[in-house]
Amino acid sequence: MQYELTEEQETLRRSIRDLAQGIIAPRAAEIDEKAEFPEDIWEQLAKYGWLSLVIPEEYGGTGAPVLTTCVVIEEIAKVCASSALILAVHSLGSTPITIAGSHEQKTRYFPRMAAGEHLAAFALTEPGAGSDASALGTTAVLDGDHYRLNGTKCFISNGGVAEIYSVFAMTSHGVGTKGISAFIVEKSFPGFRIGKMEHKMGIRGNPTTEILFEDCLVPRENLLGKEGEGFRIAMQTLDKARPGIGAQAVGIAQGALDFAASYAKQRIQFKQPLAALPAIQFKLADMAMHTEAARQLVYKAAAMVDKGSKEVSKLSAMAKCFASDTAMWVTTEAVQVLGGYGYMKEYPLERMMRDAKITQIYEGTNEVQRLVIARGVLG
Ligand SMILES: Cc1cc2nc3c(=O)[nH]c(=O)nc-3n(C[C@H](O)[C@H](O)[C@H](O)COP(=O)(O)OP(=O)(O)OC[C@H]3O[C@@H](n4cnc5c(N)ncnc54)[C@H](O)[C@@H]3O)c2cc1C
Repeated sequence: MQYELTEEQETLRRSIRDLAQGIIAPRAAEIDEKAEFPEDIWEQLAKYGWLSLVIPEEYGGTGAPVLTTCVVIEEIAKVCASSALILAVHSLGSTPITIAGSHEQKTRYFPRMAAGEHLAAFALTEPGAGSDASALGTTAVLDGDHYRLNGTKCFISNGGVAEIYSVFAMTSHGVGTKGISAFIVEKSFPGFRIGKMEHKMGIRGNPTTEILFEDCLVPRENLLGKEGEGFRIAMQTLDKARPGIGAQAVGIAQGALDFAASYAKQRIQFKQPLAALPAIQFKLADMAMHTEAARQLVYKAAAMVDKGSKEVSKLSAMAKCFASDTAMWVTTEAVQVLGGYGYMKEYPLERMMRDAKITQIYEGTNEVQRLVIARGVLG
């Protein structure tokens, strides 16, 4: 089944493409070079309603299908993977509230998130709990009207720039993942502190930080769902969000392919454009073929999320894994098409290659995705 976009989705694609090409693309190299969070691009995304896509309509958002959000992430990632993360992480951080939040919680938090005034983040990973999320050490102990949170999260995207954090912590011990609970935590809560900022290979325009909880006081009413439901909420969130990372990867791959193809038409060697060489043509053909296959898988997974399919864990893992492996391979080939120039910072391809790498790692490494897929295959 081919995933045709609706007329509305095509219109939105043209509209975000204009913003991406006109405003984001000229900033991409500088954002990477300075490792600077692009506040100006956040403002543009908020102003034109792109951050409202992931918030339900009844709470001031657009409530767009995941497929629409994927198209938007893809278009931004074509020119700047860091800028695409603003929306991808806003989606990741807000989804636990969409899944498990009460009407009161949604009414309190969503309007400002829809307006793009407050960004969201997702805080699951810890120094001792990466792929094994069940090993969380952060604790949440009920003390009167508040939970007291203690512990350290690491590698949190949108760290510091987000106002609202979906945080996962242990509320009981000895019961495995059933001891994990989810909370909405505001940056302004007492005992919440932003720790070390990471220096990274790629997506350098998105802050990745530690989050420290030092007797952090979280009101009891900020528990998401019931105690013990945190692991389920986290896993359902990742199932819904992984097509977005797949879309980021497709965008990076497409951006690299477009640049390499255009360069190959202009660069003259042996008295002819590189594009006239069969070796280069075959490379571009393979890059295009893999990118389109990845796009179709991402769109299918997104459409399955929108339909509430039971197959969603497997498909989302496939989309994220295949698209990110594709992005890594396509960007490496694109650098090769440019030869030595591909290796230079004067051209965007080395940045795209560095940015592609993270898509194989975050929201679950591709080894973990293969475990999820195998589980789906084997039953
Ligand atoms: C830039 C960046 C941004 C991030 N943003 C966020 C965020 O916003 N929120 C958040 O919560 N987390 C975030 N993460 C964390 C990310 O999801 C984890 O890094 C990832 O899940 C892997 O955990 P780890 O780094 O501890 O690696 P480890 O779990 O230590 O894994 C190391 C290696 O072992 C492999 N491995 C581990 N277990 C298995 C297994 N059972 N079978 C096969 N292979 C295995 C892994 O695939 C990997 O290759 C981010 C990470 C980075 C680098």
